[in-house]
Amino acid sequence: MSNKVNIFWFRRDLRLEDNRGFYKALHGKHPVLPIFIFDSEILDELPKNDPRVSFISERLQKMQQSLKDHDSGIAVYQGTPEAVFKQITSEYTIANVITNHDYESYSLVRDSEVQTLLESKGIGFYTYKDQVIFEKDEVVKSDGTPYVVYTPYMKTWKSQFKTAVDLKNYDCKSHFDNLLKGTSLPFLTLEDIGFEKSDIRVPDFDISPATIKNYQATRNFPSVEGTSHLGPHLRFGTISIREAVRKAISEKNEIFWQELIWREFFMQILWHFPKTVNNAFRKKYDLIEWRNNEKEFEKWKSGKTGYPLVDAGMRELNKSGYMHNRVRMLVASFLCKHLLIDWRWGEAYFAEKLLDYEQASNVGNWQWAAGSGVDAAPYFRIFNPTTQIEKFDKDHIYIKKWIPEYGTDQYPEQLVDHKMARERCLKVYKEAVSQH
Ligand code: FAD
Repeated sequence: MSNKVNIFWFRRDLRLEDNRGFYKALHGKHPVLPIFIFDSEILDELPKNDPRVSFISERLQKMQQSLKDHDSGIAVYQGTPEAVFKQITSEYTIANVITNHDYESYSLVRDSEVQTLLESKGIGFYTYKDQVIFEKDEVVKSDGTPYVVYTPYMKTWKSQFKTAVDLKNYDCKSHFDNLLKGTSLPFLTLEDIGFEKSDIRVPDFDISPATIKNYQATRNFPSVEGTSHLGPHLRFGTISIREAVRKAISEKNEIFWQELIWREFFMQILWHFPKTVNNAFRKKYDLIEWRNNEKEFEKWKSGKTGYPLVDAGMRELNKSGYMHNRVRMLVASFLCKHLLIDWRWGEAYFAEKLLDYEQASNVGNWQWAAGSGVDAAPYFRIFNPTTQIEKFDKDHIYIKKWIPEYGTDQYPEQLVDHKMARERCLKVYKEAVSQH
C-alpha cells in the first residue's frame, strides 16, 4: 500500500474552479485523488441516450484534459457508490473522503450509507456547503422555524446576505500541486458505461450584462431568448452559485436575483419537509379525486391537447429538454386543473425530460401549480390557456416554432372545453378542501 490519499468525490459540482469542497480537499495533508461515480442505480432508470448523461460525460472529459496538464486526472467509475468505495478502499490507503452537500432524498440515503461504510474502516467523511448561498436552516424565522412563504424568506435572505455572506472565489487551481500525480486512473467514457451521445445539447448559460439588465422586460416571453439558461449548469455545478450571484449583483437586477432565491427557498423546503416529494404540503390536497385519465395524459405529454401554448411547451420539452418558465406554469396548471391529473404524474414526466431537473424546484413548482404547496396559487385561480397566448405569445411566434401544423386541419381538436374543465376543477377541489 502506498502513502495515504484524500479522495474528492465530484457529484453535482462538475467544475475544477470555485468549488468549495475541492478547495478544502486540496488544502488537506494528503495528495488528492478526484473521483466521479456513474451511479448504476440511477443509470438503470434512464434511456441510453439521456442528454444529461451525455453532458456529464463531456464535462468529465474536459476536466480530465485540464487535470492532465497537471500530470493528474479524475478516476471515473460505474457501480453503486457503496460498491465503488469498497473497491477504492481496497486499492488505496485513504485518510478522508471529501465532497459537497447534496440534499435530494436519494442522495441523503446514499451519503449516509457511504459514511457508515467509510467510518467502519476508520476513514473520515466530510461534506461542505457549495451549491447554495444559504442552505437548509441558515435562513429561518426568529423562532427558528422554517419559512413557508417566499416573500418574508426572500427579505430575510437579502438582509442576511448583506451581513453574512461568503461570495469567495475558491481558487482551486493554485493548489493543484496537491493532486495525486503520475498514476494511471480508470476513466469510463459514455460508451464504456453503455450510453450513447444524445442529439439534445445543454445550451451555454448567458449571464452577460445585457441579458441580466433586460431580464425583467423579456423573461416572460417564450419566443424571446430572455432568460439565462443557468438551470442545468446550476444543477450539475458547471458554474458556481457564487459566480452567478456575483454577476447578478454587479448588474443590480433584483428580479433575476430573486429567481435565484426561489431556488434556495425550495431547497430549504425540501430539507425541512422531505415528505413533500410524494405528499401535498397542505394535507387536504391529498384528498383531491384526480381523474388520472391515461389517454389524456399521453396527449398532454406529446403536445396534442389542442391548446397551442400548452402543446408548444410540451413539444419544446420533448425536443430540447427545456421549457420556458411561463409555459411550464401553464402546462402544469393545465394538467392538474383542466385534466385533473395528479401533479405527481407531471412532476415525474418533467424529471424524466428536463435538463435542469432539480427535485426541490420541480416538486416545489408542481405543488405551487396544483395549489397544494407552500406559497401556492389559490386553487380557484386557473390559467386560461387561450388568454395566456394573448399575453405572452400574441404573434404566435413561439407556437409556430414548435407546432409546424398549427393553423392547419392537422392540428388536434381541443381535448376539453375550457369552461367545462374550469367548473369541474373548482367542484373537485372544493370538495377536497372542505373535508376535514
Ligand atoms: P432564469 O429565468 O434565467 O432564472 C435563473 C435561475 O433561477 C434558474 O436557472 C433557476 O436556478 C432559478 N429559478 C428561476 N425560476 C425559478 C423557480 N420558479 N423555482 C426555482 N428556481 C428558479 N427549475 C429548475 O431548476 N429545475 C426544475 O426541475 C424545475 N421544474 C419546474 C417545474 C415547474 C412546473 C415550473 C413552473 C417551474 C420549474 N422550474 C424548475 C423553475 C423554472 O422554470 C426554471 O428554473 C427556469 O425556467 C430555468 O430557465 P433559466 O435557467 O433560463 O431561468
